[in-house]
Amino acid sequence: MSQIKDNISSIKKVIEAAIKRGGKCQEEVLLIAVTKTRTPEEINEAIAAGITDIGENKVQEITDKFDMVKPVRWHMIGHLQTNKVKYIIDKVSLIHSVDSLKLAREIDRRAAQHNKVMDILIQINAAEEESKFGLRKEESEQMIREILANCPNVRIRGLMSMAPFADDPEAVRGFFTEVFDLYCEYKKIRHDGLDFRYLSMGMSNDYEVAIEEGANAVRIGTSVFGARNYNLK
Ligand SMILES: *Cc1c(COP(=O)(O)O)cnc(C)c1O
Repeated sequence: MSQIKDNISSIKKVIEAAIKRGGKCQEEVLLIAVTKTRTPEEINEAIAAGITDIGENKVQEITDKFDMVKPVRWHMIGHLQTNKVKYIIDKVSLIHSVDSLKLAREIDRRAAQHNKVMDILIQINAAEEESKFGLRKEESEQMIREILANCPNVRIRGLMSMAPFADDPEAVRGFFTEVFDLYCEYKKIRHDGLDFRYLSMGMSNDYEVAIEEGANAVRIGTSVFGARNYNLK
C-alpha cells in the first residue's frame, strides 16, 4: 500500500473510534484532505484512495490545480479576499471562511451570475485571538441574520473554526465544546437560506478531540500527506 493510502485508512479508523467515544450523535464525519502545497499527482493518489473532498487555503492553488485534479468536491478553507471570489465561485462546493457581510455579498453576487446558490460556513474565532480571522461568538448571530436578509444566493450550512495551536489537544477541548454549543443553537433557526449540516473543526493535531466534541467535518493535511515543505512549492 502506498503511504497516502495507508494514512487515509488509519485516519478513517481513528475517526470511527472518536465518533463512538464522543457520543454527540454525529452520523458521519466528512474527511476533507487539505491539499495546500501538494501536487496534482499526490492529490489524485488521495482521490484514488477514496478521498471525495479536498480543501485549499489559497485561491491561486485552486485555480492552478483545478484542471489537473480528478473530479472531487473542492473546499475553500482559508481567508478569502472579496476581489478573488470570482476565480473560485464556479469551482468550489463549500466556502468555510466567511466572516464579513462584504464577503458574503460578493459571494452572493457572483453566485447569482452563475445561476447557483453557494454553500458557506461562518468562521468563528472562539479563541478571541486578535491575529486570527473569524467572528467572535457574539458577532456571529448578527452576521447570520444580515446574510439571511441580504444574500439570497448564499446558503449557510454551518460553522467553521480553528482552535489555537496547542501541543496537547486536551487544552483546546473546551474551545471545541463552545463552538459545538453555538452550532446547536443556530441549527434550530428555521429560515430559507439556512440549513445547518456542517461543523468544520479539527486538524491533524486535534481532530480526535474535535470529533469527540461534535465536529462532523475535519480538515486534515499533514496526517494524510506528511509534513508540508513550503520551500518546494
Ligand atoms: C492547513 C490547514 C488545515 C490542515 O492542517 P494540518 O495540520 O496539516 O492537518 C486545516 N484547516 C486550515 C484552514 C488550514 O489552512
